[in-house]
Amino acid sequence: MVEGHGPDLCAMSDEIWETPELNYQETKSVARHKDMLAQKGFRVSENIGGIPTAVMGEAGDGGPVIAILGEYDALPGLSQEAGIAEQKPRNDSDNGHGCGHNLLGSGAMLAAIAVRDFLQSNNLPGRVRYYGCPAEEGGSAKGFMVRAGAFDDVDVAISWHPAPFAGVNNPISLACNELEFHFKGRAAHASSSPELGRSALDAVELMNVGANYMREHMPSTARLHYALINAGGVAPNVVQANATVRYLIRARELDELIELVERVKKIAQGAALMTETSVEHVVVSGDANLIGNTPLEQLMYRKLEALGPPEFDEADRDFAREIQATLSEKDIRAAYARFGLKPRLDVPLCDTIFPPESGDGRHVGSTDVGTVSWVVPTVQMRGATYAIGTPGHSWQLVAQGKMPAAHKGMVHAAKVMAATASELFADPSLVAAAKADFAERREGRPFINPIPDDVNPPIPGYGEAAE
Ligand SMILES: [Zn+2]
Repeated sequence: MVEGHGPDLCAMSDEIWETPELNYQETKSVARHKDMLAQKGFRVSENIGGIPTAVMGEAGDGGPVIAILGEYDALPGLSQEAGIAEQKPRNDSDNGHGCGHNLLGSGAMLAAIAVRDFLQSNNLPGRVRYYGCPAEEGGSAKGFMVRAGAFDDVDVAISWHPAPFAGVNNPISLACNELEFHFKGRAAHASSSPELGRSALDAVELMNVGANYMREHMPSTARLHYALINAGGVAPNVVQANATVRYLIRARELDELIELVERVKKIAQGAALMTETSVEHVVVSGDANLIGNTPLEQLMYRKLEALGPPEFDEADRDFAREIQATLSEKDIRAAYARFGLKPRLDVPLCDTIFPPESGDGRHVGSTDVGTVSWVVPTVQMRGATYAIGTPGHSWQLVAQGKMPAAHKGMVHAAKVMAATASELFADPSLVAAAKADFAERREGRPFINPIPDDVNPPIPGYGEAAE
């Protein structure tokens, strides 16, 4: 059933690759997703969570609700031609699909369509949904969708991500918050009347010093990064009256994150006090850490094991070798290390399945799927779609996004997701087991959405025309 719809969805993935759109601006990508859902007979709901570039398609009746989550946002500054192993930006866009979200969305929808076929042909009750989730890259759209109740009646959520290897995720991701600190001082001539000026840039520098001293006294798994959004101007002879620094704070657990964010806010206040400036902060985005689900992970792994790794051919491996020639041996070794695998430097493309519980918890990022996993039992897999060692968010990853290997890896992941969902529909006791595991893991851990109630996505007029 997956293979029957494979060509349509591979073509859609290529079209999404061709029109790389940044977070909350995915108008063409979401339109394409809506068309495909309608063409495949799904009931389409638009504007999910009040976000114009989010969509949901549903098929089937009654029974449990199983959601398959997709994404389609691209990254800035990663423009790249497809199918070549040299860096060459395209003429028509500055953006690129450097995280493989063109495949992520199309593969997830492919799985949902096959599950719809499975429900129909077996005459089973149940509703399968495809959620088109925009703005994963720094946008936390799923967190806003959770807040709006978009997943409230969902029993199980399934997703995947393109990767160098195929396997079921070891569910580690860091909770994170992105905040901007706006400092306001007083401009003055930096030489003739420096005593009249109060430098917002000084405050930012002192804040960063304070944060760097905090590093030693935070959990060793936590992360702190900052970027200067506004350094106050280009003239050194003007005391900078305004400066903004953006912080990304990450921690293993939500409660650790909340504590760290409060400490960083205190450091900002301290810097303002020292410099006689004022400071205001704005939360930009936030994701919860991932909560795993043992019954779902075991089920998905059984399906993956039964299917085996994706089957690549010599042409796929040849191109992957060309890509690997642009990488360092260190890149390739690091890719194996991240998945807890012994390095095999002569293997350009995945030919095996990484075992459960593998993976190195020190090398993890964040995902807004984490927020969903606090409200719905959630499982994810990695699908092998690119050369081993390809760095995330790189031109090499963009270049491989339309290759036959990417299509094969996407169809392969769709089969595993579809088989997982189908088994859940066929055996409702598995859904009950997933829910029991979820309840046990959530017990005594209150869910606090890391996106505060008064923070909205960067969409003009958001919330004004709420249904
Ligand atoms: Zn991604």
